[in-house]
Amino acid sequence: MTTSENKPRNVAIVGAGPVGALTAVYLANRGWNVHLYETRPDMRLPENKAKIQNRSINLALSTRGLTALKGTGLALDELIMKSGLPMRGRMLHIGQEGHLVSQDYGVHGECINSVDRAKLNEDLITAAEELNNVKVSFNLTLKRADLDKGTLEFQNKETKETVKAHADLIVGCDGAYSSVRNSLMRYVRLDFGQEYIPHGYCELSIPPKVGTDGKPEFAMDPEHLHIWPRHKFMMIALPNPDKSFTVTLFMPFANFEMIHNESDLLNFFEQYFADAITLMGKDLLIKEYFKNPKGSLVMVRANPYHYKDRCIILGDAAHSMVPFYGQGMNCGFEDVRILDTLLSEFDVKSHKEGESDTSLALALEAYTDRRAKDLKAICELALYNYTEMRHGVTSPVYLMRKKVESWLHLLVPSKVIPLYTMVSFSNRPYSEAYARHHAQGFWLTVAGGIVGLGTATALAVAGWKQRRGLADAAGLLKAAFLTAMQSAQKLVQ
Ligand code: FAD
Repeated sequence: MTTSENKPRNVAIVGAGPVGALTAVYLANRGWNVHLYETRPDMRLPENKAKIQNRSINLALSTRGLTALKGTGLALDELIMKSGLPMRGRMLHIGQEGHLVSQDYGVHGECINSVDRAKLNEDLITAAEELNNVKVSFNLTLKRADLDKGTLEFQNKETKETVKAHADLIVGCDGAYSSVRNSLMRYVRLDFGQEYIPHGYCELSIPPKVGTDGKPEFAMDPEHLHIWPRHKFMMIALPNPDKSFTVTLFMPFANFEMIHNESDLLNFFEQYFADAITLMGKDLLIKEYFKNPKGSLVMVRANPYHYKDRCIILGDAAHSMVPFYGQGMNCGFEDVRILDTLLSEFDVKSHKEGESDTSLALALEAYTDRRAKDLKAICELALYNYTEMRHGVTSPVYLMRKKVESWLHLLVPSKVIPLYTMVSFSNRPYSEAYARHHAQGFWLTVAGGIVGLGTATALAVAGWKQRRGLADAAGLLKAAFLTAMQSAQKLVQ
């Protein structure tokens, strides 16, 4: 009887963005038959490129994303990193004149990587398509899905025809405004929240400059993610392989709405980003600012992420976050890796057609259980990091804490790990990183207090001794500072 035969599972993945394409590779690696459906046209075809470039041009890929790419066993991490540009720290452009201050991301030279979003997406779709059990269809928009029956209904964007499909498992990787999630809501008591922050973004660029040999060169240091922190808003820039920078201006929509014409724009830039005008060139700035859309930033939270053994949502469909920790896609890639681990843990293999699959249902349930606290944590951290990037990075208290934290991390790496290191350079669960950061916070404040107090005492003693010509003030100060650091170190050990 056909109904009781073990068969490879048929999976429909809706959305061929970065997360959907990676999911296709992972599930195909398990021997499952995968059909990837995408509403956009095939962006690898030159005639379609111009039509679909509406999201940020580059993004930061870090450890979690790279680990998931590597986990495919197809060296996709190496493929993507061929054109990735490592950024070892932030370069702050302080004040109107853009005084430069570099802050390393990690004490051991760890880097995040600027990658071309479109190329990454294209490479992943190609990698999926090269597997003989993956089929990719474009121009198909999911309209509705019946999760119990496993039926999907798409509309062809060109012909307007309805296309029907069937799958044992439906995976929603269709982004923040997910249609699969909308269907899921009708089957489970799904807690759902959507929130727009008052800030939006506009993409601009800094073109390459002409080098002494006539060849294009980067106009700024390419080993940094550049930030112009302006407290209530900020601008950032990431390098591209063609030696340009993609610049993103993040600010409240109310501020965007105050810029009506060229002179408003130039006055605004002269007041806040004068050094950037020189780098961008006035004409390009004006052209791009008025041409490019002002994107909104939405946060989406949902729970649970699955329905029985029939459906799961991953990536932005499950947890759209603000982009300030550079983790949205990295976290989506981690979703896929963790799902794959659970499918192995629960020994989910082939499938008996027409029968429900307990092991898959348990694996999906475990996914919701294990992932929920981590996704909540990273969404909160991403929002918190906006304040840090536009304001915190310029505060002396913040800088002091960062210094103390870095020193202690070097001295007692098992006890103190900076939050940024845990989030961007490790695969430690986000919720653990979050909890540990808070636990460390108390000790760092105490350690910082001791260092501050020690330094102040040393300064006072040095001043007193110097007035009496008793000792070398600088030497004394150094000794007292080291004593204070050692006390702080003992405290956290
Ligand atoms: P998406 O990229 O949104 O892809 C969803 C896909 O589904 C799309 O291709 C869409 O066309 C398709 N689709 C939608 N609806 C349907 C439908 N009904 N039928 C069929 N197909 C459908 N993340 C980082 O990790 N690092 C960064 O530095 C970073 N920077 C960012 C900067 C900005 C300004 C923004 C806005 C985001 C940034 N992100 C970053 C977040 C990152 O872009 C997202 O987290 C990531 O794109 C999510 O991937 P996804 O595949 O889940 O969703």
